[in-house]
Amino acid sequence: MMALNGNGLSWLRRAVFEPLYYLRAGSPFLDYWITLEQTQYLPETVLRERQRRRLRDLLRYAWENNAFYRSRFESAGVTPGMLDTDDCIAKIPILTKADIRSHTADMISRGFDRGELLNFKTGGSTGKSLDIYVTEECSELRNSCARRHDLWTGWKSGEPIAAVWGNPYLPHGVKQKLRDWLVSPMIYLDTMCISEEAIVRFADEWKRVRPTLLFGHAHSIYVLAQYVRDLKLSGIRPTGILSTSMMLMPHERRTIESVFGIKVTDRYGCEEVSLIASECEKHEGMHLNIEHLYIEFVRDDGSPAASGEPGAIVVTDLMNRAMPFIRYRVEDVGVPTDRKCSCGRGLPLMESVTGRVADFLVKSDGSRVAGVSLIENTLTKIPGIDQMQLVQEAVDSLVVRVVPGAEFNDATRRELHDYFKELFGGQTKIEVTAVEAILPEASGKYRFSICRI
Ligand SMILES: [Zn+2]
Repeated sequence: MMALNGNGLSWLRRAVFEPLYYLRAGSPFLDYWITLEQTQYLPETVLRERQRRRLRDLLRYAWENNAFYRSRFESAGVTPGMLDTDDCIAKIPILTKADIRSHTADMISRGFDRGELLNFKTGGSTGKSLDIYVTEECSELRNSCARRHDLWTGWKSGEPIAAVWGNPYLPHGVKQKLRDWLVSPMIYLDTMCISEEAIVRFADEWKRVRPTLLFGHAHSIYVLAQYVRDLKLSGIRPTGILSTSMMLMPHERRTIESVFGIKVTDRYGCEEVSLIASECEKHEGMHLNIEHLYIEFVRDDGSPAASGEPGAIVVTDLMNRAMPFIRYRVEDVGVPTDRKCSCGRGLPLMESVTGRVADFLVKSDGSRVAGVSLIENTLTKIPGIDQMQLVQEAVDSLVVRVVPGAEFNDATRRELHDYFKELFGGQTKIEVTAVEAILPEASGKYRFSICRI
């Protein structure tokens, strides 16, 4: 008889408990996941054709069942005859977060009742949160898709997971605890209170539960990696690392990969439309989730960005009929690419996300610069900086908040001041302030560059 060691348990969860759980729940999760495992290898042309068909169906659906979109289409001069054409989508107005906030109820399609839909709230790192509604089925399809991409990290279903997360989910009651243990055991490190003791506790729990996937916000995993290195903790040995929800900076990736000895799998998505893009096991760029989304990269003038050129990310959710998201501007900037990944999947690539729109700072000549790049350029080159945050309230002022490291001194201040002064131009007042800590926002995410202009 098979001994119930970690591997045996994981196998049981994968082969028995999980299928039983979803079967009993009547969920499409497993069937859909199996389908997605196959479709990822279809040729790109086939996937693009399916995407076009889903897009046409969605636009027609919105025209017939959603008064909010019908009126937006009409005001843009879109007629029913145009809905089937390829250039129709570009005529539809961009949907902003402000649009969603003021029209949440109007955006629900005919025949759906908000009280019966699942409600998600976005983290609100831009200051205000959004209410998102989806059907349970749509949510399960999103989960299936996320599952496919989870496996790209090297993790196998049924294996325990360790999450580095703010406001972690905690199971309530015996039933939920049993369900979690049987289907998907997890341990947590709460990013709202990371300390030496918390890390040591986390490492002890790791040895007991033996997770294989380490999952969390990019910067939180980086902070954990630094602790693991400095405290010389040996037990935390993931076989996959999944970084999500915020930009993974190159120096953070280097540290994480050297501490844990494996590659980081970077993923990009948002609560509103779920998974947008993800690295595979080859790490040659991020595969776009064109099976669920229609993704555009848009220049300031509204025209499409070329391969290799940064553009605002605009997504249309092909799966959510209850509350359609059509040409939704996520407020992140990414770079599309024509490069192909050597893994053979038909899902096209994008280069990494280069930052949130709100993270771009404004120079005195009006040009914009990605705050994260500035941090990368200074934090890793000027000694004495543990952490940094750039805050711009006006075009002529920039506050550089620094958590001083051991080597911090007047020269550090001067170097920082001179670097930003030269870059931003003579009119900009640069203020370098030493602070004790830079804390994450309520969502658990860190922001390193904040533009409030
Ligand atoms: Zn690939």
